[in-house]
Amino acid sequence: MKPAAFEYHAPASVGEAVGLLAELGEDAKAIAGGQSLVPMLALRLAVLDHLVDLRRMEELRGIEQRDGGVWIGAGTTQATIQRSAEVAAWVPLLARATPLIGHFQIRNRGTLGGSIAHADAAAEYPAVALALDARLEATSPRGARTIAARDFFQGMWSTALQADELLTGVLFPQWGPRSGFAIEEFARRGGDFAIAGAAVAVQLDTDDRIARCGIGLFGLGQAALRATTTETQLTGSAAGEVSAEDIGRTAMEGLESVPSDLHGSADYRKHVGAAMVARAWERAVQEAGVQEASNA
Ligand code: FAD
Repeated sequence: MKPAAFEYHAPASVGEAVGLLAELGEDAKAIAGGQSLVPMLALRLAVLDHLVDLRRMEELRGIEQRDGGVWIGAGTTQATIQRSAEVAAWVPLLARATPLIGHFQIRNRGTLGGSIAHADAAAEYPAVALALDARLEATSPRGARTIAARDFFQGMWSTALQADELLTGVLFPQWGPRSGFAIEEFARRGGDFAIAGAAVAVQLDTDDRIARCGIGLFGLGQAALRATTTETQLTGSAAGEVSAEDIGRTAMEGLESVPSDLHGSADYRKHVGAAMVARAWERAVQEAGVQEASNA
């Protein structure tokens, strides 16, 4: 199928783009890399009268240290993130998640902001944003605001963004020394969306206790989730005394709305999810410990 006819707009600035979105209302949407929106238009899962293209806006691109974290423009492509030595050094979890997204052709066009704003439950970036406590910057004709990742993802393809609001950038906090990061997922074929996955960040204190941790889950609900109860239980525990398998299991407890479809039942997804959490936890803790050993 082909998309229904639409009018194409290519504004030069964020101000112009949000003005257009406000003026055109519900019949308009932003398009970034088009890697999620174009298939939805082609399948007529979405029918829009107007598309507002974000690709001319240089202000939506960039990677820099800012406000105690790393700011990445919403329009920065996934391929740019994958190639960036700065992202690898400053936000390792984001760097490690990126090659897991689709294929390189998709990452060449797909953007950070597009993935976060699209909020697919099985996408990697929303889970990374949750695990790291990222802050999402949005702009509308009413001005700019910052939304905590934990308040952003609301349900299937649903976020806290208003219809006339654009995501302009994401601020990833840089975690301190003795931190470790890992992402694990299971997909039937390389490049497919994951059946279930987990993104883990952990920081140890000088006594090898868990100072803080973030566990982002994907493929395990209507949106990316954070295993907050498990994180709270872990905080303050001795890292060497907790079992990764137990962490995986408790992270699956109380999960509601786990998808059940032809790719896997809800029970199967939880089984896979527990294993992914356990693997990611083990690797993250190992990295947090290894850092201290190499710095000693
Ligand atoms: P678009 O498709 O242009 O837009 C997506 C949505 O976000 C639209 O609703 C649009 O209005 C909105 N939007 C875009 N930018 C902004 C902004 N700055 N502010 C507000 N709203 C905005 N993704 C994964 O995470 N993991 C995968 O494994 C994966 N596999 C894929 C496999 C295939 C075959 C394909 C086609 C896609 C796959 N994707 C996967 C999706 C891909 O990562 C997309 O790049 C991403 O989901 C959307 O980014 P985009 O820039 O293309 O956004």
